[in-house]
Amino acid sequence: MTAKIAVLAGDGIGPEIIAAALGVLDCLQRDFGLSVELEHADIGGAGYDQYGQPLPEETLQICQQADAILFGAIGGPKYDTLERDLRPEKGLLRLRSALSLFSNLRPAILYPQLAAASSLKPELVAGLDLMIVRELTGGIYFGEPRGIRQLENGERQGFNTLVYAEHEIERIARSAFDIARLRSRRLCSVDKANVLEVSELWREVVERVGKDYDDVELSHLYVDNASMQLVRAPKQFDVIVTSNLFGDILSDTAAMLTGSIGMLPSASLDIDARGMYEPVHGSAPDIAGQNIANPLATILSLAMLLRYSLQQGELAQRIETAVGAVLDQGLRTVDIAAGAESIGTRQMGDAVVAAIRADAS
Ligand code: NAD
Repeated sequence: MTAKIAVLAGDGIGPEIIAAALGVLDCLQRDFGLSVELEHADIGGAGYDQYGQPLPEETLQICQQADAILFGAIGGPKYDTLERDLRPEKGLLRLRSALSLFSNLRPAILYPQLAAASSLKPELVAGLDLMIVRELTGGIYFGEPRGIRQLENGERQGFNTLVYAEHEIERIARSAFDIARLRSRRLCSVDKANVLEVSELWREVVERVGKDYDDVELSHLYVDNASMQLVRAPKQFDVIVTSNLFGDILSDTAAMLTGSIGMLPSASLDIDARGMYEPVHGSAPDIAGQNIANPLATILSLAMLLRYSLQQGELAQRIETAVGAVLDQGLRTVDIAAGAESIGTRQMGDAVVAAIRADAS
């Protein structure tokens, strides 16, 4: 069956990094029998320029009909003075919520060849490969009531509400268990069940869902301990599942362990594992149009797309192996070159394609 992929290049370096990823996709179609149909659409500043909206209706429709979305990046100084509703970021937020992308996958991968880029000792992080599954559409960021109110004594008080219904916990837990099954079958749920009732329920529901996954080893950690363990011995983790707020913080910590923002992919999935795949970094307007952006985060996002939405784990592995191979060859874009010689965006994309072909021959 031919899968449909919506391709949203966006702004800044978006078109360049997406072009490199599409080169890889083209190779998989030509040489490995992958069958996909691509539909390109505008989003962010590009959507505003073309249609006056950061998420044009046509783009939303294309995304709703797709099996997966490959996303570049949005934003740029040109759009920073627009009214809030028309800014590129709004397009991305609207798209995530329109598609109910509640499960946010943030891998932290550190290729051993780049271990020196981390702020931690190389032996602690070399070969790190962990996945944080963050609940994305609930919790304290969305809970009502919220606001800033005036107390009787005249002082102002800010308040937010942390709420999770059982169905929200259950679906993120299932998403995380499914992902653990595609990896090394170890899942750590992070909460604050010693203090928060919401976390008590979270733990109970995760345990209950776990009964359907007796092939996955489940553990629990309090969030304060989890953050400590992430910087003490990050390689002990495989998959971590946690709420929106805790996941926001832990995933950025984990990302920084790798030290190279140009290398980090991400995904956001709905209940049927249809998803949007994008690099963690932004549109990097400072280097746009110069053929120097690192396309590997986007290429690795494509690998995630193949694994999680198209059930093509073997092709995903081919891409990941090829990325390791180009790093082994010493090829680096400027952001990961540490001052040594570097190659451009297109050349890096071509090198990954060549490595995929070399591995197969
Ligand atoms: P950024 O991630 O775009 O850039 C931060 C720094 O990292 C810059 O120096 C940039 O040159 C560098 N960098 C980023 N990606 C790189 C790559 N692939 N290769 C080499 N170097 C890379 O973050 P920022 O500067 O804070 O934001 C720039 C714009 O991107 C803003 O408009 C912001 O709103 C937007 N943004 C978009 C997303 C998204 O599309 N999901 C995420 C974050 C920021």
